[in-house]
Order: sequence, then structure tokens, then C-alpha cells
Amino acid sequence: MNATPPRPRLVKTVDELRGILDGVRRSGRRIGLVPTMGALHEGHLSLIRASKAEYDYTVVTIFVNPSQFGLGEDLTEYPRTLDADMDALTGCGADLVLAPSDEEVYRPGHATWVEVGAGAEPLEGRHRPGHFRGVATVVLKLFNMVGAQAAYFGQKDYQQVLVIKLMVADLDLPIEIRVCPIIREPDGLAMSSRNACLSPDARQQALVLWKSLCLAGELVEQGECDTRIIAERMRQTIAMAKDARIDYVALVDPDTLEPVDRVEGRTLAAVAVHIENTRLIDNCLLKAES
Ligand code: AMP
Repeated sequence: MNATPPRPRLVKTVDELRGILDGVRRSGRRIGLVPTMGALHEGHLSLIRASKAEYDYTVVTIFVNPSQFGLGEDLTEYPRTLDADMDALTGCGADLVLAPSDEEVYRPGHATWVEVGAGAEPLEGRHRPGHFRGVATVVLKLFNMVGAQAAYFGQKDYQQVLVIKLMVADLDLPIEIRVCPIIREPDGLAMSSRNACLSPDARQQALVLWKSLCLAGELVEQGECDTRIIAERMRQTIAMAKDARIDYVALVDPDTLEPVDRVEGRTLAAVAVHIENTRLIDNCLLKAES
């Protein structure tokens, strides 16, 4: 007889969540947390599997956090697919899903925010002012709601991981941060909830992000170290997509995000590009032979 795969329990309030997690903790189980904005794909599921492999009980949060979207960004268009998400989570190792309303997370009168430092200024921070303030605040709130031993994030949002790791260190938060690799479609496009917003034509064009990162890797392998030359070639590759508009093509120190002139040791290549109306990001670590 086939057993039905377990479907995680869905809760909508912090009180309900805490009631359940008190019991989990009392039974000595250790909790892993996977924060998401939903519209789940294999990238998210890889984080859940990593948590399941290391922790006894995995909590997934699904919350499209309004405070990390700027004016004119895609908050209202962002895909919200809770029923499909619950189906996707069936059998993948999540035990509990918190999907709170905006009001549950930001109660009337909410006035306290995490002030993020210099690591939040370049790249995404420059193009999305206030984004990391919103991210850090909601992530801190989720950490406090869940009380997990570890939280799982994707390298896809490279700068987000840096900002969160710094917040954890600076505020002495008792939680481990685990970072998982970028999961890609077979043709290389980084999985993203926003990919669902791409028309078939834009989906094809979106491949230029990955192509530009591959080109950077090839150039470094061939011995090119000059980041101006590499960035220019990456821009040319992206410009081959007729509807591409570049926010940035950056070659930076992977720890400080400061621009570097030469690829020596590890260098982060990061891109943010609008294809039609959809903004996509991707990155990879370049390694020069020493
Ligand atoms: P999001 O729902 O986009 O806020 O993402 C939730 C978490 O999933 C973040 O830690 C992301 O970095 C991670 N994530 C998103 N896309 C991918 C991917 N393609 N591979 C691995 N992790 C991802």
C-alpha cells in the first residue's frame, strides 16, 4: 500500500506557530527555518531538503514582505500561489508552513526597523533603496517568531546573505546561517519566482544573464584578469537581448562587495537586468589560478 506523502501543517498566526513550536522544542527536536516569499520552485525546495537533512523539524515561511519592495516595484504583481505551494511542499520534508497576512507581521503602529550597514549600500541597495532594511527587519522578525537553530538561504541572493550574516553577528542572534547553491533550469537560467512573469520570448532573452556569467568564467580561465574588459564583454552579451535593461554588471570582492580592478583569487560576478518588465538577478564566483 502506498503511504500518502506528508503535507506540512499550515498556520497563519504567530500565536498558533508558537504553540506548536513550544511542543516541538519540549520534545527536544531542533528546528531549521526556510524563509521564502512563496511561488515555490526547486531552489526553495533545495533549501528545505538541506534543513530536513540537518534538523529534526523544518519550518517554511511564505510571506511577500511589502517593506522590501520600493515604490514602482512589483509588489502587486509578485506571484502568490499558496495552494500550489502547499502541493509543492507535500513530501519534501517541511513540517510546518507559516503564511501570515501583512497585518499579522506588521501590526498597526509598527515602528521599529533594522538599520543595515555599508554592505547593503552597493549593487541591490543602490538600485533598490530601503530593500535591505525591509529584508533585515522581516528576517529578524521571522527568526524571533520561529526560534530556529538554523536558517537556510540561497546564494542566488548573494548580498542578502551578507547583510543577514552581518545582522546575526552584530546583534548576537543565536542562529546559524546556512547558504545553499543556486539551482538552475536545464538551460542555465537561475530559478526564480519572477521567472513566472516572463513571456516565452522574454524567457529566452533572460538566458543572457547566465551567458554573461559563463563568459566571465571563460575569460578568467583564458587568463583575462582586467575586470573592466570582463564587465564590458558581459554587458555586450546582455545587450544581445533586445528587451534587456542593465541595472548593474559588477565584479567585486565577495566579502566586502567593493569593486576590484583585477580578478585575483575569488571575485564575485553579479548582474541585475530587467527583461521587459521583470527584474532578474544572478551571480557566480570567479576563481583566478594563482
Ligand atoms: P525568495 O522566495 O525569492 O525570497 O527566496 C527565498 C529563498 O530562496 C532565498 O534564500 C533565496 O536566495 C532562495 N532562492 C531563490 N532562488 C533560488 C535558487 N534558484 N537556488 C537556490 N536558492 C534560491
